[in-house]
Amino acid sequence: MRTVYVAPIGEVEETVVDVVALALWSTFGLPVKRFPSLPDPAAALDAARQQYSSSAILRDLQLYCPEDPVKFVGITERDLFIPMLSFVFGQAQVGGPLALVSCARLRQEYYGLPPDPALLYSRVAKEGIHEIGHTFGMVHCSDAACPMALSNTIAQVDRKRGGLCDSCAALVHEITGKEML
Ligand SMILES: [Zn+2]
Ligand SMILES: [Zn+2]
Repeated sequence: MRTVYVAPIGEVEETVVDVVALALWSTFGLPVKRFPSLPDPAAALDAARQQYSSSAILRDLQLYCPEDPVKFVGITERDLFIPMLSFVFGQAQVGGPLALVSCARLRQEYYGLPPDPALLYSRVAKEGIHEIGHTFGMVHCSDAACPMALSNTIAQVDRKRGGLCDSCAALVHEITGKEML
């Protein structure tokens, strides 16, 4: 059976890794394993932007990716960008094995607010589901409350529920065979 691996990249809070693993297991119905921590992605730093290249980190992830067919999701505290956007919450290879999620802008501290661990965990779970959904070939959902909806702002992340909408859940059922609840 296909296994989903969750890999911390650099220093990542242990609970964040566990929360993403649990969300992926319960959403996609596949076994999820924790992968050993990967090195901090120092080489992906863009000095001028003081952000990390999402595509460069994904390329590095490829080097560690276990044999196919698996999904391999990296979690980082680093703030990510792609050239045409000021930032991204994550990135994935559509239909490929690799996905990446950043906690940087999911933390209330980023917005000058007090830390809120429960809110961080719910946000990172939704974004983990979103990016792994892309690796299964799923596209953005028109239901703004579905984790597969596009999110460019933290408000859009917070509008999402923890679980997929019925049509995305039906897609997952087709793709992974996960039972419909
Ligand atoms: Zn997306
Ligand atoms: Zn949906």
